[in-house]
Amino acid sequence: MEWPGKRGRRLAPSAGWDEPSQAAQREKAKARPEVVGSSARAERAEIPTVKSPNTGRPPPPAESSLERSRESRYKGGTLIAEEVGELADHLRRVADADQYRPAECARCGHGSVHVHDRVERRPLGDVLLPAVVTVLVFRCALRTCGATWRILPRFLARHLWHAWRAVERTVMMPEKAEATSAPTMAVRTGQRWRERLASSGRLLVVLLAMAGARLAAVATKVGLGCTRGALVAAFVQVVRPAPGLQLAALATVVHRLARGIRLM
Ligand SMILES: [Zn+2]
Repeated sequence: MEWPGKRGRRLAPSAGWDEPSQAAQREKAKARPEVVGSSARAERAEIPTVKSPNTGRPPPPAESSLERSRESRYKGGTLIAEEVGELADHLRRVADADQYRPAECARCGHGSVHVHDRVERRPLGDVLLPAVVTVLVFRCALRTCGATWRILPRFLARHLWHAWRAVERTVMMPEKAEATSAPTMAVRTGQRWRERLASSGRLLVVLLAMAGARLAAVATKVGLGCTRGALVAAFVQVVRPAPGLQLAALATVVHRLARGIRLM
């Protein structure tokens, strides 16, 4: 989706990625798997063994949301500020909430959203980030909607405890990561990330194929049978995001095309 800029106006996506056409949006809606029933009860029944450093809650059920959008199940959610790739820029915007305030509610289109909360994220594994990063949550002022929107800079992974730079270092430059990664990073964590990148990229290719010429070129390059990892490599070749933001950039595009679908 297009990132809503300051109140009353819209900013073009900073990296020049193409917007999906209306036809693509319709196709995307078709491609999105149906949400079958509510699994909330089942999720509650799971006994958490590990708690998130950010939320204190157990990790989200991971593999299912690689392919399934959560968009229709939740009132509100996460919006990613695609143009915010640096901590300094993020801090400026948190200090002046108007710079992060969506122009409208992404659920109902209401033009007034208020700062609702400031929540702490504790991104792991990135020495360039402080231990705690504050994130703004806005709430739609329309009483009958009330959707809440958490705004993340793109260097914070929406659903992973580690910051994107740390994830990228681990999966794309494993030898370097071994020398520099925090001792707290479990070997199993890195394995899990690699397994996700080794999984099918088909759904993501479909999304990108309908998202404008530049992203379609990425899709054409790899084809439907590719892995997510191969898709990342092609995306990096075509779009050339800065090192450290390569996974973040593609994850952001995917989230924009089908909110809730995860790169990994
Ligand atoms: Zn609303």
